[in-house]
Amino acid sequence: MESRGMEVRADAALARRKVAASVQVCCPRCDAVFFHGFGAAQDGADGAGCPGCSLERSSEASAPEPDSPISCCWFCGNDEFYLQKDFNRQLGLNIVFTSALVVFLVMLWTTHVVGLIVLAAIALVDWGVYQLLRTVSVCYLCQSIYRGFPLDPEHKGFYLGTEEKFKHRRQEWLKTIQ
Ligand SMILES: [Zn+2]
Ligand SMILES: [Zn+2]
Repeated sequence: MESRGMEVRADAALARRKVAASVQVCCPRCDAVFFHGFGAAQDGADGAGCPGCSLERSSEASAPEPDSPISCCWFCGNDEFYLQKDFNRQLGLNIVFTSALVVFLVMLWTTHVVGLIVLAAIALVDWGVYQLLRTVSVCYLCQSIYRGFPLDPEHKGFYLGTEEKFKHRRQEWLKTIQ
């Protein structure tokens, strides 16, 4: 039994490692969203910048190593990041809305107690799904999303105080690329 457990864990670790190291950039000039792979996932060109408007990457930016935590943003050269679950916000809102509707209808058709039980069940499923989601690193300055890199223990979740600091820095940076 135990060796099977180990096997499953090894498989899970392998599956996690198999996620190609890549970055998702939303161009601050033309809003084009594009991806760039690193290491084995690199697709030919070195990826000079935005394919939409040819906005070039910062000269301070360097290509990250797929085996090391991200320390310098490939696109803007910033070195501060936060961690978040790899989660589609719109999908999340849809799930919340649908869940609320289901609970409301159940309460309408049966009793409040059944509605609350359904609510608890949905919350449990949501929690389980949340645990399965991958964690990604996000650049505070240009908000590029890094997937498939090991996480830096120094990086924490999104912090509003840091975001306040970056709001000004982002405006200065945007002025330089317009
Ligand atoms: Zn662009
Ligand atoms: Zn960046």
